[in-house]
Amino acid sequence: MILFRNAAVASDFLNGKKMSGKSIGFVPTMGALHAGHLSLIAKAKEENNLVVCSIFVNPAQFNDPGDLERYPRPIERDIELLTLAGCDVLLLPSVEDIYPREGLLHLHRYALGHLEHFLEGRSRPGHFQGVANVVDRLLSIVNPDNMYLGQKDFQQVKVLEWLVANTGRSTHIVICPILREENGLAMSSRNIRLGASNLEKASIIFQSLQFAAGNYQRYAPSELQAICIKHIESFPNASVDYLEFCDTDSFQSINDWRDAEHIVAVTAVMVSGVRLLDNMLIK
Ligand code: AMP
Repeated sequence: MILFRNAAVASDFLNGKKMSGKSIGFVPTMGALHAGHLSLIAKAKEENNLVVCSIFVNPAQFNDPGDLERYPRPIERDIELLTLAGCDVLLLPSVEDIYPREGLLHLHRYALGHLEHFLEGRSRPGHFQGVANVVDRLLSIVNPDNMYLGQKDFQQVKVLEWLVANTGRSTHIVICPILREENGLAMSSRNIRLGASNLEKASIIFQSLQFAAGNYQRYAPSELQAICIKHIESFPNASVDYLEFCDTDSFQSINDWRDAEHIVAVTAVMVSGVRLLDNMLIK
């Protein structure tokens, strides 16, 4: 695996590869890699000549400085995992490289529409502008044919689909399924902050989503929402930030199961100060 710390050098190298006809698959991450990330690398390997992973803990998408500070950064282990996974290129840029000349203070504003202030966007002001800024910059450096994203961050996928469609890029987005712990909890870099007992009990989030998927026709959406929230909060360390049923295309809340052809249940739950996201297609 070739490691680039300098964006311009990486860009030159990857341009050369593209000129010689190689297809590039790109997996953007914030590191602290787990099997979920590695499943994206594996998928990218299947479908491209060259796989590029980036690790960049993006300050622009953290609205809580404590969360940014606490974000795990086990870089030696990540390099080992990526090497074992057969990743070809690791891009490890500095903050100055991605946001030159005080760029962090002058972020671009994207017209993300309702996605920006809805659900995850409402709870984390500026978060999706930060995500759009960093991915736009990373796409300019890597210029991939395909970009691999986890369904785990469903709203983020919607934002990045918007970004690609509205910035004239030809990159194709591939959405990869959620990898879960044995007990059903969605894998996340934040899970290591949970501790064994919370990690075990947080499976209640997955169980509630499964219940919703299996029983939605028996209830009105608002009833089912209340049942799921109550179930999750029966675990005293858990507090539901939101649990909504949304149209997978428009990502608007639905009031009736007939409102959309495909519906996803999306949730964010705080468990002892750790923010956990999950979702499940229910219709
Ligand atoms: P992150 O490092 O958390 O920014 O995630 C990098 C990419 O990995 C994003 O596209 C995530 O959606 C994806 N990802 C994170 N967790 C999982 C998971 N449990 N299963 C599949 N993909 C995931």
